[in-house]
Amino acid sequence: MEQLLQKQKHYFQTGETLSLEFRLKQLTRLKETIKKYEQAITDTLKKELHKSLFEAYTTEIGIVYEEIRFVMKRLSDWMKPQRVPTPLTHFGSKSYIYPEPYGVSLIIAPWNYPFQLAISPLIGAIAAGNCAIVKPSEYTPETSSLLKAIVSEAFSEEYVAVVEGGVDVSQKLLDLPFDHIFFTGSVSVGKMVMAAAAKHLTPVTLELGGKSPAIVDASAHIDLAAKRIVWGKFLNAGQTCIAPDYVFVHASVKSLLIERMKQYIEQLYGDKNTYSRIVTVRHTERLVRFLANGTVLHGGTYDIEQRWIEPTLLDDITRDDAVMQEEIFGPILPILTFETIDEAIQMINDYEKPLALYLFTEDRDVQQQILQQVHFGGGCINDTVVHVANPHLPFGGVGQSGIGAYHGKASFDAFTHYKSVLKQTTKFDIPLRYPNFPNALKWV
Ligand code: NAD
Repeated sequence: MEQLLQKQKHYFQTGETLSLEFRLKQLTRLKETIKKYEQAITDTLKKELHKSLFEAYTTEIGIVYEEIRFVMKRLSDWMKPQRVPTPLTHFGSKSYIYPEPYGVSLIIAPWNYPFQLAISPLIGAIAAGNCAIVKPSEYTPETSSLLKAIVSEAFSEEYVAVVEGGVDVSQKLLDLPFDHIFFTGSVSVGKMVMAAAAKHLTPVTLELGGKSPAIVDASAHIDLAAKRIVWGKFLNAGQTCIAPDYVFVHASVKSLLIERMKQYIEQLYGDKNTYSRIVTVRHTERLVRFLANGTVLHGGTYDIEQRWIEPTLLDDITRDDAVMQEEIFGPILPILTFETIDEAIQMINDYEKPLALYLFTEDRDVQQQILQQVHFGGGCINDTVVHVANPHLPFGGVGQSGIGAYHGKASFDAFTHYKSVLKQTTKFDIPLRYPNFPNALKWV
């Protein structure tokens, strides 16, 4: 790993990765290689997470193509040095900001969208002119080796490489002096990544998780709220970092919301044969323990060997229940009620700042109040999850849900250092700043 990093550092220093032509060529090559392996990717995702073709394409492959297209179209603009104003006190000089790549980036990926969450940051790294080492998750080993095959077919290892392995490999990589680290995963490991990065003062982007609430106000369009929450929560069996973790509903509309949610669960995710699986038996067992909390309103059955849990709604849940103590990350949705929006805000703010928040309301004052009083990475009003797919919106957390952002221009920025340069004139030299100089400014 150390040798690989040195190789990449030398390659980076050749300046080969810097030109627009080079970066565009690599992005095209990445897209073409993914295209070639498309069938293998969907087959592997089916095998490892039981993702349907529809889900695999929309949430893992299509989104990556869209990101490449978006970035390639705008890259030449983003790469241009920017001239900025210079104050009169610096008369004769001009000021510029030069975007430059960090160098060699380490990208560590999780297992829940094992393809997309490894490739998406890589697009940013390439666009910004970096070399990169990608470390996929060990929990999806077949996707990991497929990523290795794709990357080594598309690129030489002195430019971009995949290093496979688990925690030990990840830790060894983190000991090395990378120029930037992009980590997607849990809050607890995120803290370890930041501690390791501190040893070399390596800048980090941390894409973490947390308990993302969905709030349903009395004024909400209940049928749509039910449909959109069910879709976003139970997608990929709830193993989505921005899935609604729990629902906070106004007491007056609770029973209607639950009735509609049950209906949509059946309609969208009722077929066990096509529903996503939990990543491992151990992760399934962890989730099954939450089913003992409160009362099961819908679902509640499971098959540990098959890593399957029925989409489940839980009622009679309190803040003290285990299911409300950590990020759920599975197809279990606790439903809590509130009487006033202030009460909901108070409870959400008692948790760490979430990665996402979803608010269902027709009331603009409530929208304003939540936007002002609750801090969260990003989110939607009257929808769930879809903000992630708008490349114009930087995607990331705040506080414990993450540091930094990516997607679209934000991805370019995440892998870029903005170098500020003032170009001074040599045609004249204003003496005012020099001490004890004959014509320097004097008090009168
Ligand atoms: P994880 O933190 O366990 O693992 C992520 C990566 O870190 C893996 O590649 C793993 O090998 C490595 N790793 C694990 N333990 C390590 C250690 N002690 N030292 C160094 N490296 C280590 O996360 P996960 O279980 O793969 O993913 C689930 C979590 O990721 C959830 O919390 C979820 O919310 C979050 N997530 C966030 C985003 C986002 O974009 N913000 C996206 C997906 C998942």
